[in-house]
Amino acid sequence: MDSPFQPDVILVGAGIMSATVGVLLKELNPALTIEMFESLEGAGLESSSAWNNAGTGHAANCELNYTPEEKEGGIDISKALKVNEAFDLSLQFWSYLVKKRALPHPETFIHSVPHISFVTGSENVAFLKKRYEVMAKHHCYSSMEYTEDKAKLKEWIPLVMEGRDAEERGAATRVLGGTDIDFGALTRSLFEHLERIGGFKVHYAHRVVDICRKGSWHLKIKEIKTGQIKFSSSQFVFLGAGGGVLSLLQKSDIPEIKGYAGFPVSGLWLRCDDLKVAQRHQAKVYGKASIGSPPMSVPHLDTRIVNGKRSLLFGPYAGFSSKFLKEGSFLDLFCSIRPGNIGSLLAVARDNVALTKYLITQVFQSPRHRFASLQEYYPNAKLEEWRLETAGQRVQIIKPDPKRGAILQFGTELISASDHSLVGLLGASPGASIAVSIALELVERCFPSKLTEWLPRLREIIPSYGKSLIDNAELCKQIRSEIAETLKTAIDK
Ligand SMILES: Cc1cc2nc3c(=O)[nH]c(=O)nc-3n(C[C@H](O)[C@H](O)[C@H](O)COP(=O)(O)OP(=O)(O)OC[C@H]3O[C@@H](n4cnc5c(N)ncnc54)[C@H](O)[C@@H]3O)c2cc1C
Repeated sequence: MDSPFQPDVILVGAGIMSATVGVLLKELNPALTIEMFESLEGAGLESSSAWNNAGTGHAANCELNYTPEEKEGGIDISKALKVNEAFDLSLQFWSYLVKKRALPHPETFIHSVPHISFVTGSENVAFLKKRYEVMAKHHCYSSMEYTEDKAKLKEWIPLVMEGRDAEERGAATRVLGGTDIDFGALTRSLFEHLERIGGFKVHYAHRVVDICRKGSWHLKIKEIKTGQIKFSSSQFVFLGAGGGVLSLLQKSDIPEIKGYAGFPVSGLWLRCDDLKVAQRHQAKVYGKASIGSPPMSVPHLDTRIVNGKRSLLFGPYAGFSSKFLKEGSFLDLFCSIRPGNIGSLLAVARDNVALTKYLITQVFQSPRHRFASLQEYYPNAKLEEWRLETAGQRVQIIKPDPKRGAILQFGTELISASDHSLVGLLGASPGASIAVSIALELVERCFPSKLTEWLPRLREIIPSYGKSLIDNAELCKQIRSEIAETLKTAIDK
């Protein structure tokens, strides 16, 4: 950056992704120098901020969209198992960092909160029971419980059960070792660790406005307060800019981004800080998505623990905003449209009429309708106990598809230059929970010549690295028991 400091790695964005990539790379090569640029005044203030996401440690315990019903009537749990295993990688990484005191006490960012799926109506109850029977047979979900018993349901989720029609059929599954995570606090602790160990230079309130290749990658950066333009360059750049990644990849001119576009989905929550209410609910209760709704808008009533304070969160209510970041610009969507991706946008608009209808109804929901949705989960809720808050912004990936022109993808995807010297993460789900598996994928893809040398360290940091927790019940049990010991949560043993 107009300075003699020539970093080996540049990170763009100070969210959980850059934090994870930065710490993992420094663990693998402590001599590495890293420089980071972030538009906002500090770390973890966009999607990674505690109240901009739901803080669910996504292990696919309770999110019904990860276990679709097959045409023949069976339940496919393969996606759930992948998410479950990816979350275990994150837990191992955090546990390793807590043990070496690189991260503070786990209570500053992770808490044990049971994960519950709750449904009503005979058809949904039959689905949940079938799902439970398949999942509980697998060692990854062996502790899952199921009940239709009203008394037990009342004990598990009193707020959800009180005030309900006595004749209504309901059922729930429960995984006691679920988690609530403050990803904002975790992000900040990871960056504090990087600053402590050195070889890491951070620039807040600095926006990367352009990126081009002249041998190495050259970044043009604007200091927000002064408007001053600065430059920095590196052989390796990670774009962990969340909703800002698409635009930066487009600016880099790499052919790999051609045809990709972004579809922003905004969100609102209802939040309740009344301790008398919050203390009566100790769970993340996920229901079934309505028809046409995107998977990430499945409603849930959650215990949140942020800065040591308990609250409840309900939502999200999906919405539409043309911004790609909560702190972004309304022009983001329009500026992302290029001759190379306009066909993709049109193809997705044509194929996703149900989603468009769903978003329109969500956007025009009145406060009364929103409150009625909350009462489906918490019948005795009182309006005055809740307030509306804006959640973080997600940008869903629209990617080229040979058959349909383009598809809307609800997951995440690393897009890299052909020589892997520039890589960016598109998409948001399952999100922060699987940051470590994404960082590992980045290491494997971008540093293949180093893998043999780094393998022993990788195994030290993430003991299950290279082994399958899905196939190896004994290893899974041992690793979970070690994690629970270190992270001091009731994570499934
Ligand atoms: C409503 C909602 C609910 C969610 N719920 C969950 C959940 O329950 N569990 C879960 O695991 N995940 C959840 N997620 C997803 C999770 O929050 C994200 O996947 C994760 O926080 C993304 O981290 P990130 O580091 O990629 O992006 P961010 O945290 O958004 O960080 C990107 C950073 O880059 C900066 N930036 C952008 N452009 C530039 C630029 N040009 N120059 C410099 N800096 C730039 C931004 O200011 C920002 O600070 C949720 C997301 C949303 C929106």
